[in-house]
Amino acid sequence: MDIHEYQAKEILARFGVPVPRGGLAYSPEQAGYRARELGGSAWVVKAQVHSGGRGAAGGVKLCRSEAEVQEFASTLFGKQLVTKQTDANGKGVYRLWVEAASDIAREIYLGFVLDRKSERIMIVASGHGGMEIEDLAEEDPDSLVRMTIDPAVGLCPFQARELAFKLGLDGGQVAQMVTILTACYRAYRDLDAMMVEINPLVVTGTGDLVALDAKMSFDTNALFRQQQVAELRDRSQEDPRESTAGDHGLSYVGLDGDIGCIINGAGLAMATMDMIKLAGGEPANFLDIGGGASPERVVRAFRTVLTDGGVSVILVNIFAGINRCDWVAEGVVQAYREVGLTIPVVVRLAGTNVEEGNRIIAESGLPLITADTLADAAAKAVAARPRQAA
Ligand code: GDP
Ligand code: MN
Repeated sequence: MDIHEYQAKEILARFGVPVPRGGLAYSPEQAGYRARELGGSAWVVKAQVHSGGRGAAGGVKLCRSEAEVQEFASTLFGKQLVTKQTDANGKGVYRLWVEAASDIAREIYLGFVLDRKSERIMIVASGHGGMEIEDLAEEDPDSLVRMTIDPAVGLCPFQARELAFKLGLDGGQVAQMVTILTACYRAYRDLDAMMVEINPLVVTGTGDLVALDAKMSFDTNALFRQQQVAELRDRSQEDPRESTAGDHGLSYVGLDGDIGCIINGAGLAMATMDMIKLAGGEPANFLDIGGGASPERVVRAFRTVLTDGGVSVILVNIFAGINRCDWVAEGVVQAYREVGLTIPVVVRLAGTNVEEGNRIIAESGLPLITADTLADAAAKAVAARPRQAA
């Protein structure tokens, strides 16, 4: 789960990371008021959306008067901000963060991620900040410094100092960096984060380190024990199809093709998408119905897949271990009748109660296309598509 920049800053500040002073605004008038309240003569107005790359997309602006703050704010509210990281629809801007402008001498990149290979939290940093990490990795890979943290001892001060030296910091900045790294690590660990990114972490004109931007995302599997984090969820920033699917225990990701997929298990879903491509088709989505799926959940999966108007065939591929083929078959038959399907449906069942499942499909009298293997199912789904104009 992602949160907004201002929320990440609030959290990190609580753990000891220095952040600029700022205030939240829900209207242009309030944005102007925030600027006056902060004082000074320059402010940065920042669209709060769950995406980076806002600066390049026109979602961040340095303003020099209260009127300019209000004016820029009024162009942002209600807008769909399209960045390099969003889809073509962009993300709706409903909150702005107005911040006292900082004087930037140097920009540093700092990120904390989970390194699955070493099974540890890893710090990735670069003395060249401001750029996205993907671009940094491509254009200046030698500038990247990586360091993993032993969970039994936590981040040691000597490690933090070593990292600070590698970034070319000196004197008092090293001590500030140690504080920042320790704070980020604690926030990451204590709050079950998946990612903490400060980009840029700046050295100001007076030589102090400040987090100018902040991004955090959290492990959804741990939200049950992170009530304060869970409350920061903002559904306006999510793809409504994905959030609604999530509410029903389904993981759904929309894609560009026309073959709708209803599958159990993320691995099988990935394999099925590969097989569809190999057979010459394009998947319309990734959908994992999870384990122990009831007929009702299968019906919900059909409804979810059909919210995508571009779907012309549905492929159901179940390898039942915890699931039961008979329940899935019942769900398919029920969905066919309730939803009033008019497009072809290919069903491949294997595993627990497969005989019963196949019997339900056969005796339903519905024009369901059955398949024995994954390859067979993918080929039949591709063949079942209505002929497209060449
Ligand atoms: P992002 O584009 O979504 O990553 O948003 P950022 O918060 O990183 O802001 C984008 C860019 O705006 C930064 O890389 C800075 O160059 C610039 N910026 C942000 N805040 C300030 C500030 O207080 N002063 C100055 N001079 N530039 C800023
Ligand atoms: Mn940034």
